[in-house]
Amino acid sequence: MARHGGRGWYGQVVAAALGITAVTVAASLWTAQAGPVDGHAKAGTSARHGAPKAAPAPAPAPASVSAEIAHASDRGTRGVNITIDDGPDPVWTPKVLQVLKEYGVKATFCMIGPQAQAHPDLVKAVVAAGHRLCDHTVSHDVTMDTKSEAYQSRQILDAERMITEASGGVRPLYYRAPGGAFTPYSRKLAASHGMRPLGWNVDSKDFERPGTAAIVATVKEEMPNGPTILFHDAGGDRSETVAALREVLPWLKEQGYSFGFPVR
Ligand SMILES: [Zn+2]
Repeated sequence: MARHGGRGWYGQVVAAALGITAVTVAASLWTAQAGPVDGHAKAGTSARHGAPKAAPAPAPAPASVSAEIAHASDRGTRGVNITIDDGPDPVWTPKVLQVLKEYGVKATFCMIGPQAQAHPDLVKAVVAAGHRLCDHTVSHDVTMDTKSEAYQSRQILDAERMITEASGGVRPLYYRAPGGAFTPYSRKLAASHGMRPLGWNVDSKDFERPGTAAIVATVKEEMPNGPTILFHDAGGDRSETVAALREVLPWLKEQGYSFGFPVR
C-alpha cells in the first residue's frame, strides 16, 4: 500500500486550511450517515395499483455537492474530524471501531473499493456505528493525477459502487484521492455523485509507524493546521495507530474540541 504525503499538494492544503475563517454549523450535517439510497419503496403505495409492474427504478442520483476540497468540520471552529484511511481491514478496523466507541467519537472511513467488497460486514459495522463512508478508489494509485480521465472515472466510480453494495446501500459521502492526487476532473466527478472531495490538515504519519508517542506528538503539534486528522486502519500493523487514538481522543476532548464530520 503506497504511502501518503510527500507531495507539494500538502502545503496547499495547509494554506487552504489557514484561509478558512468561518464555518457554517449545520445541525443537519451532524446527523448520522444517510440511510439506504433506495427511496422508491413508497412508490408502490401510490394510486398505481393494478398498473403493469415496472422494473425497479434505479436509485436516485445523489445531490451534487461542492467540488472544492473540504477541510472544515461541521462542528465549527472547535470541531475536529477524525478520518481513517485505507481499510477496511479485518484485524485493525474492529480495533479502531472499538476505540472510537469507547470515546463516543464518530469518524469518516475512507475505504478502498475491493477491500470493502471483501469485508462487507466491516463496512456495515462502520455505518451501524454512525460513522461516515468515503471513497478512496479501487487501487490506491497516488499518481492518479497523471492518468486519463477514463482511468480516474473507473477508479472513483467502481469504488463507489463496491462500497455502496458492501454497505447495503449507504453511499460514500466523500471522495479522498490517494496521496491527495486530486484533479479538477476527479473533484467534479466525485462531487456530481454526492461525494465531497476530502483533504486533510494533520497527517499523523501513523502509516510510517514512528512509535505511538511520535504519532501523538505530531497530532498535538499540528492541530493548529486545521481540523481534519488523518489516520489509517490498514496497510500494515496499525497497533501504534490504535494506541495513539487512545491518547489523542481524550486529549482533544480536554482541549475543548468536539468531534464532527467534514463539511459537505
Ligand atoms: Zn490512503
